[in-house]
Amino acid sequence: MSLKAISRLARGAGFRLALWYSTIFILSSLVLFLFAYFLLATSIREKDREMIQTKLKEYALQDRIGGLDALLHEAELERFSNQEAGFLVRIAEPADHTVFLTLPERWQRTNQSEIEALTANATPEQWLRWRRQGEGGEALEIATTRLANGFLLQVGKGSEEQDKLLERFRRIFATIIVPVILLGFSGGFFLAFRALRPVRDLIQTVRSIDTGNMDARVPVGQSGDELDELGRLFNSMLEQIGLLITGMREALDNVAHDLRTPLTRLRGAVETALQSPKSDIIMLREALMDCAEESERLVTMLNTLMDISEAETGVMRLKLCRTDIVALLAEIIDLYQYVAEEKGITISTDTPPELTLIADPGRLRQVVANLLDNAVKYTSDKGIVAVTVKQEGREVILTITDNGVGIPPHELPRIFERLYRGDTSRSQRGLGLGLSLVKAVIEAHQGRLTVDSHPGQGSRFTIHLPVDGFPAAD
Ligand code: ADP
Repeated sequence: MSLKAISRLARGAGFRLALWYSTIFILSSLVLFLFAYFLLATSIREKDREMIQTKLKEYALQDRIGGLDALLHEAELERFSNQEAGFLVRIAEPADHTVFLTLPERWQRTNQSEIEALTANATPEQWLRWRRQGEGGEALEIATTRLANGFLLQVGKGSEEQDKLLERFRRIFATIIVPVILLGFSGGFFLAFRALRPVRDLIQTVRSIDTGNMDARVPVGQSGDELDELGRLFNSMLEQIGLLITGMREALDNVAHDLRTPLTRLRGAVETALQSPKSDIIMLREALMDCAEESERLVTMLNTLMDISEAETGVMRLKLCRTDIVALLAEIIDLYQYVAEEKGITISTDTPPELTLIADPGRLRQVVANLLDNAVKYTSDKGIVAVTVKQEGREVILTITDNGVGIPPHELPRIFERLYRGDTSRSQRGLGLGLSLVKAVIEAHQGRLTVDSHPGQGSRFTIHLPVDGFPAAD
């Protein structure tokens, strides 16, 4: 492995995670060992103290029952077994002059005066602990009691056994620490490798997408943990982006296709103008006016087509807010009042004093204006256009009804298509985009648009909108 690869590995999250896992494992093992060591040391020390106390009580009892002679006799009898078992027994006069002394085997070479100096300050019911320098550094622990005759009785024990046990324990630890460290590191790397597998899958997928493969998906496991959830969400996000890209691509294709006819018309007007005699200024002016008009139509058409595409693909930014639909209707009706009056059309309304809903007021104005424009446009003179709005449950229902030309049944399924214009509409101005935009905007608000129409009788357009907006508005 090259130096570069090693340094990249060391910088990786997997390596750091593995180090963390291993360090935690090794430190926990160390703490556990130290705890066990401490427990063992205190428990064997307690045990030794118990043995010392038992012996001390035994000798004190001898003294109480048979006096000092009996005690000395007993101590003398047990001298060798005490030496072997590592016990110290000392009996001293009240003035602390030693009358009997047994030292543990490993303490035989210790100077008696040294022991006396040590025990001189011993007070009954107090533990004395003395660790000697060199020779393995063993400790001697001594308990003292004063006998009825004022003599001092001391029983102690060397730490030889304790030291041996603890030494064995330390040796075992020294033998197992290397496998524990190895186990810690290998376990840490294994766990880190497993834990980061979903992240690696994610990186792999993003790389595939980077190279243009939009079909790449993250493999999702069955554990249902957070990383699986992340994978699932990532996949669903990719799904959404895929749909959006397809939608935009289709929209772009459609717009390009839809613009071809007006652009051809525009080019036609220019070519006609170019072929006309140079001196015919009037004709040239007319051609220029046609061009300007056609350009204006083109811009309107392009804007509307873009609006429809945005609404259909879900990228339209709706400025949602609490909107009074009654006030909004009054405003639009006011705008169309003049045109309606000119045609002798009456616009009637049936609305509550106020009705609010969460919606984009600008887009809602566009919707109502388009429907009202059609109603007035496709209704003959002296007709009636009725506008109603009401709330039913959590829905606002808006209807625009006219008694105009109506729509033939075969045209009904097509009127929401882009650029579709009915046969009866040819004589009227229009782009054939109004209803497509209305439908797309209403659906972007999570609403519905329905139509009911009979030729010669008129049409009714009904809009259902949720009062509280939709989840995306929260
Ligand atoms: P435009 O009105 O510009 O032609 P629209 O998309 O608004 O385009 O309407 C599509 C078609 O639906 C119209 O050409 C017309 O044939 C029909 N239409 C829409 N509204 C009405 C109506 N209120 N009465 C009769 N026909 C209508």
